[in-house]
Amino acid sequence: MIADQAAEQTKLNALEPTVYDLSVPGRVGANLPACDVPTEDLPTELLRDELRLPELSELQVVRHFIKLSSLNYAIDKGFYPLGSCTMKYNPKLNEDMARLPGFAQLHPLTDDEGAQGALALMYALQQWLGEIVGFEAVSLAPAAGAHGEFAGILMIRKYHVSRGDTQRNKILVPDSAHGTNPATVTMAGFEVIELPADAEGGVDLEALRKVCSERADEIAGMMITVPNTLGLFEHNILEIVDLVHKAGGLMYMDGANMNALMGVVKPGELGFDVLHYNLHKTFSTPHGGGGPGSGPVGVNAKLKPFLPGPIVEIVEPAQGDEPPLYGLVMPEQSIGRMKAFHGNFGMHVRAYAYIRAYGAAGLREVSRHAVLNANYVRARLMDTYKIPYPRYCGHEFVIEARLDDAPDIHALDISKRLIDYGIHPPTNYFPLIVPQALLIEPTETEAKETLDEFIDVMKKIAREAVETPELLLNAPVNAPVRRLDEVRAAKQLVLCCRPALPEAGD
Ligand SMILES: *Cc1c(COP(=O)(O)O)cnc(C)c1O
Repeated sequence: MIADQAAEQTKLNALEPTVYDLSVPGRVGANLPACDVPTEDLPTELLRDELRLPELSELQVVRHFIKLSSLNYAIDKGFYPLGSCTMKYNPKLNEDMARLPGFAQLHPLTDDEGAQGALALMYALQQWLGEIVGFEAVSLAPAAGAHGEFAGILMIRKYHVSRGDTQRNKILVPDSAHGTNPATVTMAGFEVIELPADAEGGVDLEALRKVCSERADEIAGMMITVPNTLGLFEHNILEIVDLVHKAGGLMYMDGANMNALMGVVKPGELGFDVLHYNLHKTFSTPHGGGGPGSGPVGVNAKLKPFLPGPIVEIVEPAQGDEPPLYGLVMPEQSIGRMKAFHGNFGMHVRAYAYIRAYGAAGLREVSRHAVLNANYVRARLMDTYKIPYPRYCGHEFVIEARLDDAPDIHALDISKRLIDYGIHPPTNYFPLIVPQALLIEPTETEAKETLDEFIDVMKKIAREAVETPELLLNAPVNAPVRRLDEVRAAKQLVLCCRPALPEAGD
C-alpha cells in the first residue's frame, strides 16, 4: 500500500514538474528590443539580492499552465452535482457581454455622467432582482453570499438601534443552517440561538414558540434558508415569520437556494424583511476557486434606508426622448460601504445578461426544471440509498450514505469513487444534522442522459461497496492525485511550488 502510494507520487511528480524543475539557466521567455531611453537604477530598498525565478521559454510556460488548468475539474468538463452550490452552466454569452470594452474597461472612478450605460444596467438589475423576490429595494454592493449576510444582519442591527431598541442581541438560526449563517451572526456582534429541526426536516415549531415567548425581548431576528439546506421547503414558513415578527425580530432569508423558487415564490410576500442573492449560484455567474462572486441584498421598506451603498437611483427622470439620468447614491442611514467602488460589476453584467436572455417566463422554467431534475434523481435513487426526509424536494436533496451491507463504507468513499467515473462528488458531510450526508444538486442545465448516467454510476457504486469495497476505499485511481490526507493538507497548506533550484552559494 505504502509502496503503491510512493509509486503513485513518483508518477505524479513525473506528470507535474514544477516550473522550477523545467528551468534552464540563461533561457529567456521574452525578447525585448534594446532600451532607447536613459535607464534609471531602481531604489535599492526595493531590490532583493537574490530572486530565484525559473528561466523558461514562452512555449514551456504556456504548456505548463495549460496542462495544469486541464487537470482542474469544472462545470464545462462534466457533471457537478455539488449541493448548496448551484453549479449550473454559465452561458458563454454572459462572458462575451462582460468583456464588452465599454463595460470591461470602464474605470471605477469615472464620474456618473460618463458611466450612464453601466449605471443603467445596474439600475435594471436592482429592479429585476427586487421583482424576482418581491422586495422594494436592492443593493448590489456585497461581493459574496456571506458578505450579503453580513450586510443584512448589520441592517437588522441598525434598524433596532435606530428605534432605540438596543437590548436585542440574539439571532435565531436553525441547526441545518449553512456555516456562514452563525459565523455572520457572530461577526455582527450578536449571539446565536440554535433551533432544532423537527421530524419533517423543518424548524421545530414548538421550540420556536418557546423561545419567542420566553426570550422575545432578546430576539433581533432570525436567519433561515428556504428551501432549507436539506432541500426541503419550510411548510410552516408563514407561521415562523409571524412568530418572529410578533416577538419584535426581523426575518432574514438566506437566498442561496433561490434556484428552486424563481417565478414560483416571492420571499417578500412570505413576509421576509431582507434576503441575499448569490448571483454566482442562481444567476449563473461562474464561481469556484475563490473567484469573484456577488451577493446583493434585497429589503422591504423597513430596511431600505439602511442599505449598503452605493445604490443606483434615477436622479433626473426621463424627459421626451432623453433617457433618465442615473446616479450613485448612499441611502440616508446606510450601514456604509461593503467594499471599494460599486460591487463586482463584471458579475452584475453576467447576471443582467442571464436574466434578459431568459425573461420572466424563462426564469420560472429554470426553477421548475431544477426542482424536477432533483426529484427525478431522488426518486430513482430512493431504492438504493437512504433518503432521510422522504418527501418532494426543492432543487437538491440529501442522502444518508450508509449502506446496510457495507458497514465500512462512508460517504467520503462513495464520493471518491465518483471521481473515478469522471463525476464531481456531491457536497459531503453537510448539512451537519444528517450523518454521512451527501447533498446532491443536479441543477436545471443537465440533460436527462447525464442524470441517468449519474444514477447508474451511483447504483453501480452501491453494488461495488458490497462486492468489491476496496475499489471505494482506494479511490480515486483515475484522478491526477490519489486520496489526499485532507486534515494534513488543511493544516500544512502549501500554497506555492517550491524552487528546486540550487540554493544561493551552492
Ligand atoms: C453558498 C451559500 C452561502 C454563502 O455564499 P458564498 O457566496 O459562498 O459566501 C450561504 N448560505 C447557503 C445556504 C449557501 O449555499
